[in-house]
Amino acid sequence: MGRKLIAGNWKMHGLGGSIAELDALISGLPGGVDVAVHPPLTLLAAFAARAGERIMIGAQDCDPGVFGARTGEVSATMLADAGARAVIVGHSERRAYHGETDVAVRTKAQAARAAGLLAIVCVGETEAERDAGAALAVIAGQLGGSLPQGEGPAFAVAYEPVWAIGSGRTPTLDQITQVHGAIRAQVGTGVRILYGGSVKAANAAAILRAPNVDGALVGGASLIARDFLPIVEAGAQAVR
Ligand code: PEP
Repeated sequence: MGRKLIAGNWKMHGLGGSIAELDALISGLPGGVDVAVHPPLTLLAAFAARAGERIMIGAQDCDPGVFGARTGEVSATMLADAGARAVIVGHSERRAYHGETDVAVRTKAQAARAAGLLAIVCVGETEAERDAGAALAVIAGQLGGSLPQGEGPAFAVAYEPVWAIGSGRTPTLDQITQVHGAIRAQVGTGVRILYGGSVKAANAAAILRAPNVDGALVGGASLIARDFLPIVEAGAQAVR
């Protein structure tokens, strides 16, 4: 089993003083686990300069283009230039609030690959879809439409049930195992499959030991180093 990847998605949180949290994270990092932090764009370059090789700094979205008349947008090329090594694409909040379709997500993931970034492609069902027994079909459809095609750096998949994000609720381990097994069958080996949705210190160890769970994408519990570090430690322990 390979090293886990524990990625923190800061969403729209963080000001200049938040670099103290990054410092606290760096000073507490265990070995044997890969860690990423996705701060808001305003902090990305400063975080990348501070983190160096120790933590992979990533963005939360990118434009599919490279340069152009796209007011307010930032391309994967620009993110890489600012020090990013990864980018989350297709987060359910982007899909819901910005109307991002699978096709749009795929073009972003392809732009990320072309710029040398790890694209973390998010998929996940709503509660209504799960209740209707459609979770696996929805996820298969999202993967089919959203994953980058062709050659280039690897990508990762994050399974994030929409109803588990920020809610304090998580699927059962059996449900996580079922979905991750289905995703593995679709994407093959060599692609990390992260679980995301209300991961915290109390549930991280069990989730990270489930079959085909190669890491976690963490929102709220990634903002403070003392909350995030136990999850990172659980990732390190899960492969020992
Ligand atoms: C997320 O939004 O990617 C996420 C997993 O959030 P939380 O951990 O807060 O549920």
